[in-house]
Amino acid sequence: MSKLIFEKNIPGSNAFSLPVFDGGHPAVETSIPAQFLRQAQPQLPEVSEVEAVRHFTELSTRAYGVDSGLYPLGSCTMKYNPKINEWGARLPGMACLHPYQPQDTMQGALQLYYEMQAMLAEITGMDSFSLQPAAGAHGEMTGVLIMKAYHQHRQDHKRTRMMVPDSAHGTNPATANVVGFDVIEIKSGARGLVDLEDLRAKMSDEVAGLMLTNPNTLGLFEEDIEEIAAIVHEGGGLLYYDGANLNGIMGVARPGDMGFDVVHVNLHKTFSTPHGGGGPGSGPVGVKSPLADFLPVPVAAKQGDTYRFDYDRPLSIGKVKNFYGNFGVIVKAYAYIKALGGAGLKEACQHAVLNANYLRHRLRGAYHIPQDRLCKHEFVATSRNQTPQGVTTLDIAKRLIDYGYHPPTVYFPLIVHEAIMIEPTETEARQRLDDFAAAMEAIAREAQENPEVVIQAPHNADIKRVDEVTAARKPVLKWEGS
Ligand SMILES: *Cc1c(COP(=O)(O)O)cnc(C)c1O
Repeated sequence: MSKLIFEKNIPGSNAFSLPVFDGGHPAVETSIPAQFLRQAQPQLPEVSEVEAVRHFTELSTRAYGVDSGLYPLGSCTMKYNPKINEWGARLPGMACLHPYQPQDTMQGALQLYYEMQAMLAEITGMDSFSLQPAAGAHGEMTGVLIMKAYHQHRQDHKRTRMMVPDSAHGTNPATANVVGFDVIEIKSGARGLVDLEDLRAKMSDEVAGLMLTNPNTLGLFEEDIEEIAAIVHEGGGLLYYDGANLNGIMGVARPGDMGFDVVHVNLHKTFSTPHGGGGPGSGPVGVKSPLADFLPVPVAAKQGDTYRFDYDRPLSIGKVKNFYGNFGVIVKAYAYIKALGGAGLKEACQHAVLNANYLRHRLRGAYHIPQDRLCKHEFVATSRNQTPQGVTTLDIAKRLIDYGYHPPTVYFPLIVHEAIMIEPTETEARQRLDDFAAAMEAIAREAQENPEVVIQAPHNADIKRVDEVTAARKPVLKWEGS
């Protein structure tokens, strides 16, 4: 186990050398009342520069990321993030901007911002975009606030309910709830798609709209999308598109053409910003023109050859993020989109779909795949074949750690019992997919021949099985001494 830096404390050492201050003690003036001032020095670790470098270098080698190996985490699109994106985001003209500096001194950044709005609109088939939201769930909240503002502006105050399919990402019902809607769950049919009868039965003049992911969380394309859109629109509702994972259709199909009115996309995920460590992310929101006036302020606009932020938007829902969103992430996504171009985005999508279908074919013998037909960027398997031996999905995920892989998403979507959700992404070569499939097949064999080795996994990791209930109920979040 790694030691904490506090445990590496060597009293008297430090990682800086500054000239001695010989001006005596300057009077410390503060308006903070004395009783709130610190009485003793903070107990910070004392380490030399080399000790600090060793500590953090060691930690960095213990994290598993997409730069270490295949990362099949379904619904998360852990694709490789080209390093050139980082170069772009770190350019002084991007990284050293001050949000309060005059707009005429940051025309280049504003141009990038403006073009990004337009590129995302083209990719998704929407009319206007806001780049403010800081993540997918934040984009959902922004989009659903816009839907609410739209209905209220039309004096349609009866629409207090939001429809969400039972296969939805957990953020969808959570978002609808946070914005103040009552959630109505729509059932999936036997083929894993929205049950049209259930949708028809639940659509009413009290429903603000439907939040949908397409391809859905089973990786399946909602084939009835035009009929779904018609049912919602004829009932006076709006259609929200959760585009967190656009990998499955990017460059091939557009939510705007399917009838969606509002979308969000995750720039981290589809547009290749590193994620998984808690951010920063970016979840831009796009809308069709009848909703454009409700977008957050400001949006980037162009007048002649000049770019500026437009704040004059009286119907706007307001601001959802300080300043303009996570600009560095926007720069990375811009670099990615510009490097690939339209044809490249389409190719990335096609490879993502090909890779998912390749793995699905390879694994269909070893694992049960409930919807074993053409999928988009991901597919869902289960541990049903392993159940008789007492091996669960969690056991398989833990055993994959021994084989050197980050486990896939498990127990989601909720409608599939013991789900194992695999999304290889387009940036894996066929050889690497074969390696991963071989590991999955080896685990399936172990489950038949020697299930205990799977049930007791992981064997090679520092941390074995943890008591997840206690970890969740009584988390220890600070160092309490050794
Ligand atoms: C990841 C994801 C989200 C949430 O995105 P965050 O950036 O994590 O908030 C929403 N919907 C789907 C389908 C997702 O995969």
